[in-house]
Amino acid sequence: MTYQGVGASGGIGIGRVVRIVQADLDYSGVSFAGSEAEKERFQRAVEAFCAKTQEMAESMKTRVGEKEAEILSGQIMMLSDPFLQSQVEEAIDSGLCAEAAVDQVCGNFIEMFSSTGDELMGQRATDVGDIRTRMLELLLGVSTMRAAEAPAGSVLVAADFTPSMTVGIDKEKIAGIATEIGGKTSHSAILARALGIPAVLGVPNISKLLQDGQSVIVDGSKGIVLAEFDEHTLAEYEHLQQKEREAKRQLDAYRDCPTQDASGNRFAVYANIGKPEDAQAALEYGAEGIGLFRTEFLFMDRTSLPDEEEQYKAYIAVAETMAGKEVIIRTLDIGGDKDLPYLHLEKEENPFLGHRAIRYCLSNPEVFSVQLRALLRAGALHKNLKIMLPLITGVEEIRAAKELIETCKRQLQKEGAAYDADIPVGIMIETPAAARIADLLAKEADFFSIGTNDLTQYTLAVDRGNAKVEGLYTAFHPAVLRNIRDTITAAKQAGIPVGMCGEAAADKKLIPLLLAWGLDEFSVSPAAVLATRKTISEWSAQKSLATAQGAMELSTASEIESSLESST
Ligand code: PEP
Ligand code: MG
Repeated sequence: MTYQGVGASGGIGIGRVVRIVQADLDYSGVSFAGSEAEKERFQRAVEAFCAKTQEMAESMKTRVGEKEAEILSGQIMMLSDPFLQSQVEEAIDSGLCAEAAVDQVCGNFIEMFSSTGDELMGQRATDVGDIRTRMLELLLGVSTMRAAEAPAGSVLVAADFTPSMTVGIDKEKIAGIATEIGGKTSHSAILARALGIPAVLGVPNISKLLQDGQSVIVDGSKGIVLAEFDEHTLAEYEHLQQKEREAKRQLDAYRDCPTQDASGNRFAVYANIGKPEDAQAALEYGAEGIGLFRTEFLFMDRTSLPDEEEQYKAYIAVAETMAGKEVIIRTLDIGGDKDLPYLHLEKEENPFLGHRAIRYCLSNPEVFSVQLRALLRAGALHKNLKIMLPLITGVEEIRAAKELIETCKRQLQKEGAAYDADIPVGIMIETPAAARIADLLAKEADFFSIGTNDLTQYTLAVDRGNAKVEGLYTAFHPAVLRNIRDTITAAKQAGIPVGMCGEAAADKKLIPLLLAWGLDEFSVSPAAVLATRKTISEWSAQKSLATAQGAMELSTASEIESSLESST
């Protein structure tokens, strides 16, 4: 059986299905067994909850940190609170089964905590929500498999992989990923690529079609998932997997050499990262710098905002790992498909066009300035950090952000704290508006980085995460290419550096165009650094210019893509 989806992270994964599906928490079939019996069931579930949570807290303490572990211990305290317990018992006395009583009481608490609008209370609401789900699972005897708990050799299958689910994944254990939702540049796809895990997204109903424990092959290059295959197919795929490993070994020759084209012109290949630990992998893969640190991942998988000290530690860790190499840190880019439940962001009709990224940060200066202060302080050590602002559409946004940066500098000065007074402030060009006024923006920004993932989505009005319109999502569209070309030209004219941190920077077919236009820095996922450097080395200046010229004379994405296909 072959299931077709979108190949979102290349490579072949062979393993057993582990479905990540929220267990059914419907308790309408549970009947009331009398007050005493229900109270006893409730108490047994409380005991099991506390024991399991204690275990999780201990593992969290060693794996992640003390602070995160405290959040879990806090949940034990909340559930053991005599007031909450008496409320549940009262609800049981009124004739509700334990499930209904827990649901009702937790629901009341959530409503009370969220109605205050206070951030701390909002976090409590998130915690009670988590307690309710896990208590209902215990009472109903069902469990939800969590991605971080999957055993070695697992192929994770889910309706969707939210970025926060992907964060807990141990890449050594996960052979592949298959989901129902998501496209090539959705954040789950980017994370899968960063982890080097083969992934096929957007396969209709895949989490219902496959069973736990079933053997499957994920072919991330072709975008297919195979189940119930014969010995011959398995042998073929094992052979392909072997060849892939061999090709990876051959790329090693490009690890320690400079990035240059066949004519000797110098370029740079940087890496995109999501966690401080990824910087080490980036170095091992031969990255010459970090072109995009997506800091929003520091804010995910937790129940409150990281404070200045925690952020400072994360940024300084990357600055130190990269030891003098350039590190571009993007400020908080939430909204769109990246939610932070504890912030209780308002649900929006069109989140990708809504109150996200720089817009959120500028209207929440108390959140933004914590990050800016941490960045300014971390920049003081090696002077190798740069601040990058996401989703810029106009000059006012850069000015407002820079004003806040100046205010933070003045505060730090007063406090006698060390900071980088000259930290460069650049912007992402990821909206058509920014590309169109790149000349104006270049007067205000110290550098550009082209975010083709969003630039393609916004230029073509195609949701980057929607498999239904995947066919329309292409960076080869002449409108997207013109936006890229004009942005690079504007940067060159203004004399500021220009990089690209969208996924297109690693596209073998697009690289000659980017070389011809003079892109300075290609920032790609760590696993793609060597292949990108190799491709760059294969193009002479003359050949890339001719290729770019030829491509830009064509009128459609498919004509351009096939012309580039045949010249590579
Ligand atoms: C982009 O939009 O191209 C980009 C690099 O940012 P993100 O994928 O995080 O939106
Ligand atoms: Mg973006």
